Amino acid sequence: MPANEFDVAIIGGGPAGSITASFLRKYSPSLRVAIFEREQFPRDHVGESLLPVVCRVLDEIGCWDKVEAADFPVKVGATYRWGKSNDLWDFDFLSGQPYLDQPRPAKYEGQRRSTAFQIDRARFDQILLDHAQEMGATVFLETKVSKVVSSGDRVEYLELAGGEAVRARYYVDASGGSAILRRALDIPTEEPTALRNIAIWAYWENAEWAATVGTSGTRVQVLSLGWGWIWFIPLSPTRTSIGLVVPADYFKKSGATTEQLYSKALGEEVTVASLIANARSEGTVFATRDWSFVSARMEGENWFLVGEAAGFADPILAAGISMAAVGAWEAATTICEIEKGRFEKRWLREEFTRASIRRLRSHILFADYWYSANAHFTDLVEFTRNIAEHAGLHLGAKSAWQWLGTGGFVTFGGAGIAGFNLVSTDWLINEFEGQAPEWAISRNNWFEADFEGTEQLALAVYHPGYVEQIHGLARRSKVLPLHGIYGFLARTVQETHRVDQIIGSLAGDWCRQIGGGPAAMVNALQALEGMVQDGWIKARLDESLPLMSLDSLRQTSILHPNVDNRAVTKKKLK
Ligand SMILES: Cc1cc2nc3c(=O)[nH]c(=O)nc-3n(C[C@H](O)[C@H](O)[C@H](O)COP(=O)(O)OP(=O)(O)OC[C@H]3O[C@@H](n4cnc5c(N)ncnc54)[C@H](O)[C@@H]3O)c2cc1C
Repeated sequence: MPANEFDVAIIGGGPAGSITASFLRKYSPSLRVAIFEREQFPRDHVGESLLPVVCRVLDEIGCWDKVEAADFPVKVGATYRWGKSNDLWDFDFLSGQPYLDQPRPAKYEGQRRSTAFQIDRARFDQILLDHAQEMGATVFLETKVSKVVSSGDRVEYLELAGGEAVRARYYVDASGGSAILRRALDIPTEEPTALRNIAIWAYWENAEWAATVGTSGTRVQVLSLGWGWIWFIPLSPTRTSIGLVVPADYFKKSGATTEQLYSKALGEEVTVASLIANARSEGTVFATRDWSFVSARMEGENWFLVGEAAGFADPILAAGISMAAVGAWEAATTICEIEKGRFEKRWLREEFTRASIRRLRSHILFADYWYSANAHFTDLVEFTRNIAEHAGLHLGAKSAWQWLGTGGFVTFGGAGIAGFNLVSTDWLINEFEGQAPEWAISRNNWFEADFEGTEQLALAVYHPGYVEQIHGLARRSKVLPLHGIYGFLARTVQETHRVDQIIGSLAGDWCRQIGGGPAAMVNALQALEGMVQDGWIKARLDESLPLMSLDSLRQTSILHPNVDNRAVTKKKLK
């Protein structure tokens, strides 16, 4: 192959580009993969708090040990001041298990499979890019792609800033907010939300940590003000990222500069003010807009969109890199499968679009709920009302439960929304609305399959290096994989309808089949609720039969009141 020809040309060396390249080289080592990155590395970037799913991807590409060796703080969860009450509450990755203090660097095993990292992006992105290179990708730094030349839906070649042409069989746009390929091909985007925020942040030396768990474990702090919210992310023992997210309209109307709003926020937030009492800002205050959007299509004849080039969801859920990492996994796996020729190319590509859009949309939908239901936003009443109105959301536990389900609760990873399972979503609704939602499976005890008017379809399940094709059903915007627990329940409710008998089958046949214990049962009951909410199962009450209690299910929530924060709480909400 000539020096400027590759099998896969990736634009952008951020997490999405590096992870795509590493996956490709791991599972299709004969592919010549190149990354074109316009900056010199290391380079700074916002987006520093990870979720455990990223670690699973890092482990899969053989990079977790390298990230662990960099000694970033271990993220064991998040602490929030958000919702109806003024009390802090935690998102606990370890589900109530104590975090055991252990020497680092550790292995990706035991408790560390449930944790994540808080990362200094300059170092993290460098580690990932170096890893892609070690896996055999060719990396060009300070090499900007200045033009994407296409005909119809096909990319013909890339033109570099120096004028050279680069040709490849596949092109991957991982260029983040630049989205150079998406824009060149004029792929439309939609903004399914009225959320229009800006973020303002700076880096601090020697801030105290709000929570120290073991030697280097901590939780990100997400603290709501009356007119925005603050993130507080320790990136190393001495460096901390502190940011403010505020509606763009509020910023405009305030007449203040970004620096002024930032100082005002840090002054008002007593917890943060106390943590930085002896700290020093590095000086520069950064700002960016963070408007959520989704690309209408994620692939074309010979191209794919990954990471922020594909879409963006408000950072309240700290899920940007998680979505980038999973999207990179799926794009790389799709290319590997196209190469193998086992499945129809168009089906593989369309499944990639479907999975990516679904993921982004569910995160945006969930973010809409977080903002609409946050009673702390006392200065943003109109803003939160607009978001709810635009989304068609009526507050209240019952309607929130139904509305969150409009995007479909049934997902491959388990029933839930945006990475939160249904038990945790239930906890959150209780916290935001002051009342828990009523689950269909606790109000009813007779269940029947409802597959009328459905279409059969083939769905892709992404495994490391290969795609599994499974059967599914589709009706309107909802999709049901006839696979795993969903397949089991779909068969069970055609044969037996009583809640006690269904529970018996789950506890017996299902748990035996997968070798699972109480955790498998918890997932199965959430799957049952998800299928009822998504309309695959009709539920009704038979007065002569017993009802199921949710008490033990609710005890498995990974959200709970904060126990060990040193953070000072603000004045009580009026
Ligand atoms: C305010 C804010 C807070 C956030 N907080 C979090 C968080 O806490 N947790 C989280 O997971 N995510 C967070 N995110 C999201 C996260 O930053 C992104 O999801 C992530 O950076 C996306 O990775 P990427 O590889 O797609 O893009 P990027 O990291 O932006 O990488 C794109 C790369 O492409 C390069 N590039 C661009 N154009 C060209 C070109 N023409 N030629 C060659 N190279 C090019 C760029 O230089 C860059 O290195 C946040 C985002 C914002 C805005």
